[in-house]
Amino acid sequence: MRPFNYSNASEPATAITAVSMNPGAKYLGGGTNLVDLMKEDVMHPSALVDITRLKLADVEKTATGVAIGGTATNSFTANHELIRTNYPLLSMAILAGASAQIRNMATNGGNLNQRTRCTYFYDVNMPCNKREPGSGCGALKGVNRTHAIFGWSEKCVAVYPSDMAIALAALDAKVHVEGKNNVKRTIGFADFHRLPGDTPEKDNNLKPGELITSIELPANDFAERSYYLKIRERSSYAFALVSVAAALALDGNQIKQVRIALGGVAHKPWRASVAEKWLIGKEATEANFRAAAEAELKNARPLEHNKFKVAMAKNAIARALQGAMQGGVYGLDG
Ligand SMILES: Cc1cc2nc3c(=O)[nH]c(=O)nc-3n(C[C@H](O)[C@H](O)[C@H](O)COP(=O)(O)OP(=O)(O)OC[C@H]3O[C@@H](n4cnc5c(N)ncnc54)[C@H](O)[C@@H]3O)c2cc1C
Ligand code: SF4
Repeated sequence: MRPFNYSNASEPATAITAVSMNPGAKYLGGGTNLVDLMKEDVMHPSALVDITRLKLADVEKTATGVAIGGTATNSFTANHELIRTNYPLLSMAILAGASAQIRNMATNGGNLNQRTRCTYFYDVNMPCNKREPGSGCGALKGVNRTHAIFGWSEKCVAVYPSDMAIALAALDAKVHVEGKNNVKRTIGFADFHRLPGDTPEKDNNLKPGELITSIELPANDFAERSYYLKIRERSSYAFALVSVAAALALDGNQIKQVRIALGGVAHKPWRASVAEKWLIGKEATEANFRAAAEAELKNARPLEHNKFKVAMAKNAIARALQGAMQGGVYGLDG
């Protein structure tokens, strides 16, 4: 690990100024991703600004829903009464990630900004456009079993690893950020993360120095029927091969509203908008869930080693929607 400066901030403005003024500086949340990357020499910030003492760690009601703090821990958020009651999909997704110890340290802002788990990104001896722009993509023609089937480019085929963010995408969350000179803005979740295109080194649309202060969850009708299904190689401590956040609102058995977001398939949370459109107004039946999944996956572009993800994603969409129909009963995970 290379030497770096450490400081901690008690006010957002102090932290934002410190990071905005120094291109080598990074915010430090729980450190569960950033410090790992520093130890592996993948990232080498010259300064870390600890933001865990900022008063941005609440979960509170707003006029239009609930806001979760940028520095609130994943554990606090997932177990909070307002989240368990109104957004069980988010609780399920957070609790499907990492381990209890990591969730106790990990912050919501850090979770959104965690970096890909592509093994070539972690191996500094291999080419990787995300780590070193212009060096090539080791995974494109290499071992790409865990990589993207949607939205990839020749420059990068990595997937985004967060579970929490897949639920936030399905819930149409909004990310509140603050930059230097007190400039605040709100980013719709669909526009927060990016597809790789020609600039895979950029994971998201934050401007330099912008701090995630809170994430807002609009009120919705999905609390009764939502489900997060995560398919992984072992049942804990593993990232998703494919995951699905599904939510339904019904009128009788007719689908009034539906949200489906996929994890493990793209460089950002992937909203299954083809499947959503297909399902609106239809009966909530397994046959319709499967037909919608087929329609969505028609557009998939698998790589050499991950063709299995296409069938896996189809089944996962149908199973997650069935899980939602059962009122989010646990126990369907693969
Ligand atoms: C063994 C292991 C298993 C894991 N398994 C899973 C899993 O199954 N599913 C899953 O989703 N995750 C998993 N994770 C990842 C874990 O969820 C993330 O490491 C964690 O959420 C990151 O949060 P943090 O606060 O520790 O971030 P940090 O490591 O502190 O920061 C990550 C990045 O976010 C930036 N940042 C932090 N806070 C802010 C903010 N408020 N505004 C702007 N930028 C900010 C930092 O500068 C840094 O670039 C796993 C991690 C480990 C180590
Ligand atoms: S997929 Fe992306 S992160 Fe992985 S090697 Fe290629 S450029 Fe790097």
